[in-house]
Order: sequence, then structure tokens, then C-alpha cells
Amino acid sequence: MVLCVSEEDFVTTANRQDVEEIRHAVRTLCDGYGEDYWKDLDASRGYPTDFVREMTQAGFLGCLIPEAYGGAGLGLFEACAILEEISRSGGHPGAAHAQMYVMGSVLRHGSAEQKAAYLPKIADGSLRLQSFAVTEPTTGTDTTSLKTFARRDGDVYRVSGQKVWISRVEHSDLMVLLARTKPVEERAKKTDGLSAFIVDLRDAIGNGLTVRPIDAMINHHSCELFFDDLAIPARNLLGEEHKGFRVIMDGMNAERILIAAECVGDARYFIDKASAYARERVVFDRPIGQNQGVQFPIAQSYAQTEAAALMVERAAQLFDAQARCGAEANMAKMLAADASWKAGDMCMQTHGGFSISRDYHIERKLRETRLYQIAPISTNLILSYLAEHVLDLPRSF
Ligand SMILES: Cc1cc2nc3c(=O)[nH]c(=O)nc-3n(C[C@H](O)[C@H](O)[C@H](O)COP(=O)(O)OP(=O)(O)OC[C@H]3O[C@@H](n4cnc5c(N)ncnc54)[C@H](O)[C@@H]3O)c2cc1C
Repeated sequence: MVLCVSEEDFVTTANRQDVEEIRHAVRTLCDGYGEDYWKDLDASRGYPTDFVREMTQAGFLGCLIPEAYGGAGLGLFEACAILEEISRSGGHPGAAHAQMYVMGSVLRHGSAEQKAAYLPKIADGSLRLQSFAVTEPTTGTDTTSLKTFARRDGDVYRVSGQKVWISRVEHSDLMVLLARTKPVEERAKKTDGLSAFIVDLRDAIGNGLTVRPIDAMINHHSCELFFDDLAIPARNLLGEEHKGFRVIMDGMNAERILIAAECVGDARYFIDKASAYARERVVFDRPIGQNQGVQFPIAQSYAQTEAAALMVERAAQLFDAQARCGAEANMAKMLAADASWKAGDMCMQTHGGFSISRDYHIERKLRETRLYQIAPISTNLILSYLAEHVLDLPRSF
């Protein structure tokens, strides 16, 4: 069912003027980290430590944390603007975006003690919570079938199993983990029997947790994790035992909307770059942009991107109004990822042979934006969500 919310129901904590000021401040900060900075990190699989530090100190990565816990207390609408500007500048927000939203599990489901212990330190950057471990090699998208097991043993849970594609583990102090706490045969329904935990990586690595980086197409710092009887203090359970799926699901809409905003930033980056090149590059004694065969794909990308941006805005506003936004979050992510992928392809075509040169940065951005057809949820799974939950078509799996 599509939820209709009137414009008056939208509550955003900042008005458009404020958002423009935020965008300007992010753009200014990003100016200090040019495209060569990101290109060099990509080549060396390096982490943008300085950039992340400056973004944290400026309050951008703690923007969703309420003021009572030392954050900026802004909404997803403003957070989207921040990530979009990083992408549009040529940067790669994937290195830092999770510091914004993984803490949502603590904020919405943590105990008073957990919130007081973690949120102020995440806001000031002294604790990095930018990893969450859900995906497993043998179950993939079928999250409710995951196998990593956490067995209660006195004051601890003992965890054994394996995760894959878990990003930024090497650059995080804490990680949210989803594990099974009830055998599959005993669960009342598919989502029952999973629990969420806060894992202190500083204690865990080398003491039951092994981290192996994956050699990947993009610089996303993703790793395989091997749990061998890792002891997690029982007080680190996040939310209720066996009800961890809800803890994780709550954060997924935020993640999809924020990543959609990054895709809008990528698409705008490609459109800016293609337009500039099409105006300047002269072949056959005229700018290539004078040819409609070159103009039209740029104009088409522009139209697709503006439409996707509206859906991102709508999804963020619904999220901020605490209204249901599953359909909009999914559509925003799919439309924006499609727009950025097509804009990237268009940008390469506009640049001809030069697009292949790493010095033009287009191929790196295209690789980075390609991820979002697959993660954090693939296009097929979005379509199946819309078919089942919005269009009332028969469930397929
Ligand atoms: C760079 C990167 C970073 C990541 N970071 C994280 C992270 O930090 N934490 C984390 O938990 N996970 C992370 N992931 C995992 C990511 O969320 C998954 O890769 C993604 O959800 C898809 O799962 P899968 O790769 O197992 O694909 P599979 O589930 O094996 O699916 C493969 C393909 O089959 C399709 N498919 C599967 N079932 C169906 C069906 N029933 N109907 C139609 N099509 C279907 C899918 O759409 C997909 O295209 C990351 C992945 C990557 C690549």
C-alpha cells in the first residue's frame, strides 16, 4: 500500500536555506580533497583518514545524532545533502557514510546505558561505528536464513560463523552484528530468532574474530569475517533477544535513502563533467556538444537524475516525519542508482577515448557507482518488494 502524506505532515529540522548552507560548507570542505586524492587512495586501497576526520570535526558525520548526545540533531533530508555533495565533488562517501547511519540501531533500539556510552563518542569521532555485519557467503540476500550463531553462555554470547563483504571493519572500533540465537527449527516465523549485538572490534580481532580483506573492483574496504567462539558480553545485546531483525531493518530504509542521495551526487558529477567537456572539445571545427547525438544523452541523464532526486527528497521527508517509507526508500535507491549508472556511461561516451584514462577520474566513479545496482540491496529485490508490498502481486520467495 502506498502511503499518502500531505506536504504539511513533513517535518524537517532545517529549511531550504539551511540546506543550501550545509551544501556550501560540504563543498568547501571537499575542495580541499581533490580528485587526485581519491584516485591515489583507490590505487593504494587507502582509507581517507584526513577527510573522515575533518568531516567528523565539522559535525557532518554525527549530523543524525540528537543534540542531547552531542550530535547536530538534523534529519535524513540534510544528511542526504551532505553525502550528495561529497559524491558530486568527485569523492567517495562510501568510506564514511556508515558512521552516519549505523548508529541509528543504537539510537532507536539501544538501552539508556548503551546510548549514553556510545552516542556522544560517535558524535565527536572518538568512537567509530561504521560497520554492520549481516551478509553471509552461503545465504546472501536471504538474510533470514543466515547461519552465524550466537549461543548464550552465562554473561557472554559465544559467536561462530562467517560473514562476507563487511565494509570498513579495519577502520571501525565498533560493529553491529546480526546473528542467529534460536535454531531455525524453533523459530515461530522467518524473522524470529535473530539478535543484534554491538561488537567491540578492538577486543574481538585476534580473540575469536579474524578479518580478511577482499581484493575488490572498488576501494570499499570490504572484508570476510570468521567468527570462532568469539565471546561478546551479554550487555552488548542491542534490542531484544531474538528480535534483532527489526533492529537491522529499521536502519535499512535510512541506508537506502542516503545511498540514493550519493547516486544523485554521482549522476550530477557525470552530467557536470560531460556538459563541460561537450562545450570545450572541438572536433570537425565545432564543439562536440553542438551535435544533438552528444547533447541528447546528457539531457536525458539530466531529466532522469532530477526525477530520481525528487524521489530521494520525498523518501527522506517521509523518513523524517516518521511515516512509512519502505516503498519510497526502495524506489529512490533504484531510480537514483539507475540514473547514476546511465549518467556514468553517458559521460564515458561523451569523453571518447579520454574517458578510459584514469587521469579523467570517470572510470573510477563509474566503478564506484556500479556497486549500487547490487548493494545494499539489488534491483531485483527492490522490484520484488514493490511487486509484493505495493502492487499486491503473489509473493515469489
Ligand atoms: C562492496 C560491497 C560492500 C558491501 N558492504 C556490506 C556491509 O558492510 N555489510 C553487509 O552486511 N553486507 C555488505 N554487502 C553485501 C551486499 O549487501 C550483498 O552483496 C547484496 O545484498 C547481494 O547479496 P549477494 O551478493 O549474496 O547476492 P545473491 O543473494 O547471491 O544474489 C545474486 C543475484 O541474484 C539475484 N537474486 C537472488 N535471489 C533472487 C530472487 N529471489 N529473485 C530475483 N533475483 C534474485 C540478486 O538480485 C543478485 O543480482 C556489500 C557488498 C559489496 C559488493
